[in-house]
Amino acid sequence: VYPNDASSAQDLLSAADRTMYHAKNNGRNKVAFCSDSAHLKALGREQLLLKTRLSGAIQDNGLQVFFQPIVDGGSGAVLALEALARWPDGNGGWVSPDIFIPLAEKTGQIQELSSCIIGQGLTQLAQWRAEGLQQPLMVNISRSQLFAPNFVTMLVEQLRRCELHPQDLVLEITESVALTDYARQLRHLRQLVATGFRIAIDDFGTGYSSLSQLHEIPAQLLKIDASFSRRLNTEEGRSVMQAIVQLGHLLKLDIVAEGVESEEIARHLQQLGVRRMQGFYFSEAVPANAAGLMLRLGVTRQLNPP
Ligand code: C2E
Ligand code: MG
Ligand code: MG
Repeated sequence: VYPNDASSAQDLLSAADRTMYHAKNNGRNKVAFCSDSAHLKALGREQLLLKTRLSGAIQDNGLQVFFQPIVDGGSGAVLALEALARWPDGNGGWVSPDIFIPLAEKTGQIQELSSCIIGQGLTQLAQWRAEGLQQPLMVNISRSQLFAPNFVTMLVEQLRRCELHPQDLVLEITESVALTDYARQLRHLRQLVATGFRIAIDDFGTGYSSLSQLHEIPAQLLKIDASFSRRLNTEEGRSVMQAIVQLGHLLKLDIVAEGVESEEIARHLQQLGVRRMQGFYFSEAVPANAAGLMLRLGVTRQLNPP
């Protein structure tokens, strides 16, 4: 990709060539990005060790899914749950997803990891459906998965196994993903929408946002990045949030604000007309039994009418 990977046509071609060899060495018939192969070479010993442990965890069902509610800030009702991968570190703590998800993306383990997380999430969702709970599950999808030829098949098979439907899932695609390699991306996203899945743009405002393309992305939901919620205590911060919210509404997108950590933030959002909120103020990601209770009863925190 110019100009990230090289500054001249010649350098760009030679980078593409190196990346092609990298893809061939890794089993052929796959998409590889130059930046990924550079990262892979730079993998230190520590990461290699972590990579081996991650393979073990994926195989031995050592990864778990936790669920974080997306709530109606006014009533505390839970509108959806986001499935988030959790990996116990063996010493009573957790390895952060910010470490192992990018690692899995770099090393090609993300497909397996994701199918394990989605599998667990859907099994749980089927149980909630059997109890009469109707909220959708939101799952995070990485760029390499979106491009993988068997990705949609994997999703559809997992759904069939659980007697669920594409409408039960919302696929969260990060904005940087959603807007790069645009034409191919659009084809894949349209295919997913045609199959019945709903698409959410995750971490909106942090990626290479191209506003001229946003309206073409077949998304139903915009998740505004936590960094914008954190700035709501300033007037400039509120103006920026207001502009994003208006843009989203004009494009007929539902809006979720991420990173709602306090009542103050939630109130600002409510004043700006944002109803759907996600963040530690309402609940962090929790195991399935706790999430089930929230689906039924809502969260305890809710805002009074403004
Ligand atoms: P994300 O999809 O944007 O998920 C939201 C992240 O923000 C989660 O971090 C969540 O715990 C955290 N969060 C929620 N509310 C608050 C808040 O009020 N304050 C703060 N400071 N943080 C909050 P987590 O679980 O560490 O996940 C990090 C990222 O890793 C996720 O960001 C997502 O991009 C990725 N990820 C997690 N699980 C999966 C997965 O199964 N597959 C893929 N492809 N990516 C995943
Ligand atoms: Mg997400
Ligand atoms: Mg997010």
